[in-house]
Amino acid sequence: MKFVLLVGCCLLFSEPLSRAAPSFKVASFSTVLTEVAERIGGGHLAVAALVKPGIDPHEYQPTPGDLAQASDAKVILISGKGLENYLDKIQQATGGNVEVLAVGDHLPSLMLKPAEQSADPGPPAVDPHWWNSVPNMIRATEVVAEDFARLDPAHAADYERNASAYRADLSALDKELRRKIAQLPRDRRILVTSHDAFQYFAAAYGFTIASIEGVTTETEPSNKHVSELIEEIKQRGVKAIFLESTLNPKVSREITRETGATIGGTLYADGLGEGDAATYAGMMRHNVATIVDGLR
Ligand SMILES: [Zn+2]
Repeated sequence: MKFVLLVGCCLLFSEPLSRAAPSFKVASFSTVLTEVAERIGGGHLAVAALVKPGIDPHEYQPTPGDLAQASDAKVILISGKGLENYLDKIQQATGGNVEVLAVGDHLPSLMLKPAEQSADPGPPAVDPHWWNSVPNMIRATEVVAEDFARLDPAHAADYERNASAYRADLSALDKELRRKIAQLPRDRRILVTSHDAFQYFAAAYGFTIASIEGVTTETEPSNKHVSELIEEIKQRGVKAIFLESTLNPKVSREITRETGATIGGTLYADGLGEGDAATYAGMMRHNVATIVDGLR
């Protein structure tokens, strides 16, 4: 952990110090994209982080102050893939005059399983949790860097160089996570989590998923869904299930009582948190270490 913090400090101080006023303002509605924007922008940008670490992005609604900052920006970064249900408020506040870059919409989509608890589940929706895969973050960095270079051509070379350095860090992180996951036998790579947020992670790193709720953090799972899940956990001999930092753990605890699986720890499903999850790399390391140590 000390090593991680030390690296973070070095990166911070090695960034070019710019005394000039920022070239433009970025408003970010994603904790993960705030990091991407800051790393690519170096000293050239002012980034307003409107969704703060630890906030549940499914429940967040912009305040008048947030909307004022968004209106003042040259570009608004959102996760996309349908996560932000308040887009109309942004459009109203900005009069449609500020570019909105829905970064996730430039990445491949996985579909959510229709909510088991609903009698009329409707059409399947796109899973918005793309950032839980490092390869997706690498692609997202390219999308944001291209946009910044177009908006501010005078600093395009800096943005490309910063993005390239950040992508190299992400590639090294991806390799490190794969080495950790390789410690876990393949038949133990099953994730039971308290909402359906790890499909992109599972696809990238070879896990299968069973989730306790659908994607929204507001609905309670049905008794039928919970009892099916308990059967699956027993049958597959799952050693641990995982909570998420922004969710109520009540149902998860009922399941552990029924199955004998332990609570493997808390995962960051919805973006950056605090402490060791305050950076993207720290968040991913925390999640992978928690999963591998819990299931081993
Ligand atoms: Zn989520």
